[in-house]
Amino acid sequence: MGKLDGRVVIVTGGARGQGEAEARLFAAEGARVVVGDVLDDQGEALADDLGERARYVHLDVGSEDDWRAAVAAARDAFGKVDGLVNNAGILRFNELVKTPLEEFEEVVRVNQTGAFLGIKAVAPHIGDAGGGTIVNTSSYTGLTGMAYVGAYSATKHAVVGLTRVAALELAPRGIRVNAICPGAVDTAMSNPARLDPAADAEAAARGLDALYRKLVPLGRAGTPEEVARLALFLTAEEDSAYITGQPFVIDGGWLAGVAPI
Ligand code: NAD
Repeated sequence: MGKLDGRVVIVTGGARGQGEAEARLFAAEGARVVVGDVLDDQGEALADDLGERARYVHLDVGSEDDWRAAVAAARDAFGKVDGLVNNAGILRFNELVKTPLEEFEEVVRVNQTGAFLGIKAVAPHIGDAGGGTIVNTSSYTGLTGMAYVGAYSATKHAVVGLTRVAALELAPRGIRVNAICPGAVDTAMSNPARLDPAADAEAAARGLDALYRKLVPLGRAGTPEEVARLALFLTAEEDSAYITGQPFVIDGGWLAGVAPI
């Protein structure tokens, strides 16, 4: 018996990183999973690897048309949708006063508008299926500030607000809505050198490891699989049936306060 037997869940940004870990774990727990992303080759390869219980759809989360097509594809393949993980996101580093408007709006489009459109497109179908769950992906920078990620932090604060409002409005339809707020997680987002063939990704990883040893009470970055376990907890009825409208921090203690030096 898997924790998600009989469930059908759309995972956005599911081609790599935390979304990939969520798709793999959810499928292992019995769900049928629709992986949406703009990285078509990686998304297709993941769906092939997961076999009959998975489908890949091209889903730019900022496009309402793509959302409509993704929901239709999920229903065609598996008959219903009763879960959503709004995971897709992008990060841009910049000083606020030097951030071009286009860059700010690009981050809002994916992180904030994308989560809004996902809720808008999928929640009615989850309600029709008799209820289910939405897990949004905020960040610890959705609960506190961090220099040089102003656009990102603003959108991640917005995701917490969306989560609370959606939980209030959707509870009568049996839909629980929560948010996960990861700290530093070892993916391409936190170590972009992993995507750059010209960069020394291992040296960059060693530098980041040294940083997290100092900054994070548990002394390391999190893994995508650890974040996926929290998303599973918030999606599985048996674990979290009485939880809705909440942000959940998973950050190795970084936000707890000032650690001893
Ligand atoms: P990642 O860059 O490895 O994965 C992000 C995924 O989102 C990629 O597959 C990417 O193609 C996809 N994506 C980007 N734009 C998209 C769009 N318009 N439509 C659909 N998909 C799109 O990063 P990750 O670390 O796995 O990030 C996953 C989520 O976790 C993001 O929302 C991110 O903001 C959040 N987060 C990450 C960290 C971290 O340290 N890695 C910390 C806090 C929060």
